Amino acid sequence: MYSALEKYDPQLFELIKQEEARQSGVLRLIPSENYVSQAVRMATGSCLTNKYSEGYPGKRYYEGQQITDLVEDVARNRAKKIFKADHANVQPYSGSVANLGAYNALIKPGMKIMGLTLGSGGHLTHGSKVSITSKFFKAVNYTVNEDGYLDYDVIRDMARKERPNIIISGTTAYPRAIDFKIFGEIAKEVGAYHVSDIAHLSGLVVAGLHQSPIPYADIVSTTTHKTLRGPRGGMLLCKEEHAVKLDKAIMPGQQGGPHMHTIAAIAVALAEADTKEFLVYAEQILKNSKRLSEKLMEKGFDLVTGGTDNHIILIDLRKKHIPGRDFAKALDRARIVGNFNTIPHDSAPPTKPNGLRIGTPAITTRGMREPEMDIIADLMSRVADNMGNEEAISKISQEVLLLTSRFPVPEHFTIPKKMEHPFGCNE
Ligand SMILES: *Cc1c(COP(=O)(O)O)cnc(C)c1O
Repeated sequence: MYSALEKYDPQLFELIKQEEARQSGVLRLIPSENYVSQAVRMATGSCLTNKYSEGYPGKRYYEGQQITDLVEDVARNRAKKIFKADHANVQPYSGSVANLGAYNALIKPGMKIMGLTLGSGGHLTHGSKVSITSKFFKAVNYTVNEDGYLDYDVIRDMARKERPNIIISGTTAYPRAIDFKIFGEIAKEVGAYHVSDIAHLSGLVVAGLHQSPIPYADIVSTTTHKTLRGPRGGMLLCKEEHAVKLDKAIMPGQQGGPHMHTIAAIAVALAEADTKEFLVYAEQILKNSKRLSEKLMEKGFDLVTGGTDNHIILIDLRKKHIPGRDFAKALDRARIVGNFNTIPHDSAPPTKPNGLRIGTPAITTRGMREPEMDIIADLMSRVADNMGNEEAISKISQEVLLLTSRFPVPEHFTIPKKMEHPFGCNE
C-alpha cells in the first residue's frame, strides 16, 4: 500500500509506519477513535482526491462528473437506507462544519441556539463560549443534573423561558442513553427546530442499539469516523422539507468542492455498517463497555452516573485524588490511551479536570471481549495505584504490549460480496 511513499518520501513513510505500530501496540480507549478497514483506507487514498466537484450530482459547476455523480449518489443512497432518512448530504468536511451547516440551514445569525454545556458533555459547536457558534448565534446552554443525567424537565423549563430557535440534542461525553423523542417534543412546544448531533452514537443508531433521532429531529448531524467506523468526515440527514435549504447551506453556503475521496470512503463504510457483522460489532461495543465499567467500579473507580448505556465511560477521579491530566499521561506511558475530561459540575478548570473519558469502539474492532475488559480494568487500576512509580508503569506497558499482540488490527470486517442493490441514481 505504501510503496510509492516509501520510495518518494521515506521520512513521511517512516513516520506513518511508526504511527501504525503505535496504534497497534497500545490500547486505544479514546471513544471518538476507531480503526477503519483497508477498503475505507484505499478509497480515501484514491484518485478521487484529484477531482473538483462543486455542486451536487447532476448540478455541478465543473465538467467531468460522469463518475463522481455516481459515487456521491451511491453514498447518499446508502446513507438514506441505513439511517432511514429522506435526504442525506455527505459533503460536510467534518462533524463541526456539519453542525454549522445545520444551523446555517435553519436560522439566521443572531438567532438563538440551545445546547448542552461543554462541561456537561456537550460539544464546542453546541454554542460554547470559545466557538464561532456562540459568536454567530446567541447561545444558551443547559447542563446535566447533579447525578450527571440529562433532566428533561429542566431542559423544558429552560426552553420555555429562553425560546431558542434551535434546540440541540446529542453529546460528546455523556455515558447514558438520550431520549431524542422528548427533545423533539420540547422543540415543537416552544416553536424551535430540533438539531440532533449523533457524532458519537451513529454506529449504535444504525445497529438499532440506540434510539434514532431521525423521526424526531429536523436535521441530524453526524461524524463518519467514530462508532460508524468510516473515514474522517461529516454527514447531515433530514426530512424532505429541509433538503433544499440544507444542501444550499453546505454548498455554496459554507464550503467549496466536496472531498470526493472521503465521500467514496464514507460509501464504503456505510456498506460495511449495513451488515450482520456490524450489528455483532456494535453489540460487542456495548457488552465491553458495560463489563469494563463494572470492573472499574469493582476496582474502586467512581463513574459518572454509576455506569454506561453506550460506548463511553466517564471516570470521576476525585475520590482517587488523581488529576485527570496526570492519570491520562501515566496511562499513556503504560500504553493505555484515553483523554482527560471534565466531569459534570467539575470544580477544576477544563485544563486540569477531574475526569478521564474512555470508550470501547476501537478495542472492540480489534476483537477484544469481556475477558480482556477485566484485564484492562486491572491494568488501569494498577496505573492509578502506582502514580509516580515509573518502574511499575513500565512493567504495565509491557503487559499491554503482550495483550495487544494477541489482537492484531484487522484489515477487513465483512465478507466480500456483490452488492444486492445497485445503489445508483434514484430515477
Ligand atoms: C466529535 C464530535 C463533533 C465534531 O466532529 P469533528 O469531526 O471533530 O469536527 C461534533 N459533535 C459531537 C457531539 C462530537 O462528539
